[in-house]
Amino acid sequence: MNAGSLVAAIDVGGTFTKAALIDAGHRVHQTVRRPTPYGADAVVAMVADIVAELGASVPLAAVGVVVPGLVDEATGVAKLSVNLGWRDADLAARMTAKTGVQTFLGHDVRAGALAEWELGAAKGFHEVAFIPIGTGIAAGFISGGRVLTGDGYAGEVGHITVEPDGEPCTCGNRGCLETVSSARALARRYSALTGTEVTTALEVRDRLVAGDPAAAKVWADGVDAFARVLAMVVNTLGPEVVVVGGGLSGAGDDLLDPLRARLAGLLTFQRVPKLVQASLGDQAACLGAGLLALHNLREPT
Ligand SMILES: [Zn+2]
Repeated sequence: MNAGSLVAAIDVGGTFTKAALIDAGHRVHQTVRRPTPYGADAVVAMVADIVAELGASVPLAAVGVVVPGLVDEATGVAKLSVNLGWRDADLAARMTAKTGVQTFLGHDVRAGALAEWELGAAKGFHEVAFIPIGTGIAAGFISGGRVLTGDGYAGEVGHITVEPDGEPCTCGNRGCLETVSSARALARRYSALTGTEVTTALEVRDRLVAGDPAAAKVWADGVDAFARVLAMVVNTLGPEVVVVGGGLSGAGDDLLDPLRARLAGLLTFQRVPKLVQASLGDQAACLGAGLLALHNLREPT
């Protein structure tokens, strides 16, 4: 690879797909945004269109594509995405064949973790947990300089049970962390408790700041459940830093301060991790897709 190598980085999101042309110095040269179609065939075709557009006037050295759900990076297989409609889809091979450019497949949250670690809020740390809180909750872990994949199964912290008889979760279980602490759950629980419909968790935060006791209750329950899961992460993996991302990280210290206090109350001898806000915003996964492609160029697998 030479310094001029350009890669296409593509973050296939649940609703929108974000793509960028990125060089070896991680500079972004061109961006593309498309609505995400449903199904593996349509996503492979969309990726081919984007690669053709980004590679129209420059040669591409590789393509990095990240998707949600269960992803096995080593085999390039997207094992499951209910929202995007595939199971055991051989995406890396199909995209390589369709685009004519070697394509590497990754997981959106683990790619986001990689980007925050190399370029963002976790730069300089060795033991990292990256946890975006949005519609759902998932984690990307870095330990000893490696992103932990669990063959595609690692990081599903959103489905740790926090309320044994709690609300049904999209996964089929009950009382998962996502049903209490996700941005969607905070808005839904506030609406259910008060009869006043709110559509975003940041509205709940605004009501909390304004002194609304119902907002304070919903927020505290969300913080408490999240802190209990964080304590499990601390006991299991010993991160130096926890980077909180996703839409809810926009609440900043209104989220992080109570979380720090609650987590500190759950720990005794353990190393208390730094809790910080993600710095790459909604670009993390796309930049991570670019890093995935650049790393694979550097160290062919
Ligand atoms: Zn669940």
